[in-house]
Amino acid sequence: MTELPTPLEHHQYQRYSSSGEIAAYLTALATAGGPYARLERLGNSAHGRPLHALICAAPRRAGQLRLRVMLVGSQHGASEAAGCEALLMLARAVLIGELQECLDALEFVFIPNANPDGREQDSSRNGNDVNINRDFVLLSQPETAALDDAVLRYEPEVILDAHESASLKTRTLGREGYLTDFEAQFDMAASPAVAPALREYGEHDLLPALLAAVQAQGLRAQRYIREITSTRQPITHGGLTARKFRNKAGLRGALTVLLETPMEPKDGSYPSHRNIAERVARQTLCMRAFLTVISRESARISRVVATAERLPRDNALPLNGVWVRNLASPEVVIELRRREDYLREAVTFEDWRRLEMRDPLPLPRAYLITAHTAVFASLLSRHQLPFKILDEATGCTLEQECYQGFDPVEGTWDGVDTQRIHARAAPGSLLVPVTSRSARLLPLLLEPRSQSSVFRYLAYARLLEERAPLFVARIPRDAERLPDSLRQLAP
Ligand SMILES: [Zn+2]
Repeated sequence: MTELPTPLEHHQYQRYSSSGEIAAYLTALATAGGPYARLERLGNSAHGRPLHALICAAPRRAGQLRLRVMLVGSQHGASEAAGCEALLMLARAVLIGELQECLDALEFVFIPNANPDGREQDSSRNGNDVNINRDFVLLSQPETAALDDAVLRYEPEVILDAHESASLKTRTLGREGYLTDFEAQFDMAASPAVAPALREYGEHDLLPALLAAVQAQGLRAQRYIREITSTRQPITHGGLTARKFRNKAGLRGALTVLLETPMEPKDGSYPSHRNIAERVARQTLCMRAFLTVISRESARISRVVATAERLPRDNALPLNGVWVRNLASPEVVIELRRREDYLREAVTFEDWRRLEMRDPLPLPRAYLITAHTAVFASLLSRHQLPFKILDEATGCTLEQECYQGFDPVEGTWDGVDTQRIHARAAPGSLLVPVTSRSARLLPLLLEPRSQSSVFRYLAYARLLEERAPLFVARIPRDAERLPDSLRQLAP
């Protein structure tokens, strides 16, 4: 047995590590790592369990540049347990094992157990029964607020978000007699508002390098394909909204990578508890390949992340994106397994893996929020987006839109009209500057047309009065009149 066995190893892979055991293990690792490690508490889960980050870094020498990498495991709790178990082993290898030389090129922020309640409840959700990886627009849960805050606090250049996915979905594709047959999938933050330099480097350089590194180790690897629930669906890559951690972190400026490895059917018989030994081995192989690639690429990644434009080119930000049919190769063949005999069968799907940007928004200089200010002050504070409460009436140029026809299922709005007016903003209104740091995120949250808008959630949708000018107004770049206080807040 290795020095400092993880709880999973200690139990010989016969049950998952508990959140209490993980916290104790991280404390032991921090002690064993001496000056190279420290444990920080990011916050608490909905049920009050601690959320920890283990920081691993060699003391800095003058002028030395190191890439900071954040590795997040098991956002989906015990349902996707392997990421956390693999990260505990990886942290050990970095601190006291054979990966110590990584500390020459990298600094680590390990967040292995991102959803401690889910692990204890044998669930993918947190203690409030929320899927935290859909909550990064609202930040309504303590876990999501803590993870979002960790991205801002540690400013990692690279993030790996580790997930698992069931190969047998009994209620969807399984009903058609199939299960999926992927071994490892990777994707980048995909929101269309992510800085183009990050997107281009991620898709054209980092992703191919990752896939090649994993394939060289004998695991079939591919770019992530969104869950296949039917043999008649089009094939796309992953979700595009800021609801997901990887997209939100990408909008914050980090090069963010999704890792997903498969889980076998729950009712199978395996040499370890739900085949966790094999699942951890897959995650470990992918994570180590990831570290090898980013170490090799560290100088380039630092440059790409540092120079990624904060403000969009032409000051126009695509609010939305859709996956459209790839006309150059309209079909894709994917091998599925037949449930009855487990044999592979090639199935042809429509290929919709081309991203089309939609709804470019000329970036305003600021937003002015004239009603429901307490609700929005709280939202902006959760996202750590700066704003000022006007203390006197202020004249300014405003652009206001009207909306109607909310579809509560799709969460979509129809825009009907835009007006440009000179108005006096009342005291108490919120003045929210669009700064170089907030430019890629703020409009996505505030514009009702955006896929990531808060107005897609009922709690906010009901604040919007149909056909009336929206109380979240833009102060355009070419405004004739600007509030004085905006100059103090300017980017
Ligand atoms: Zn997941």
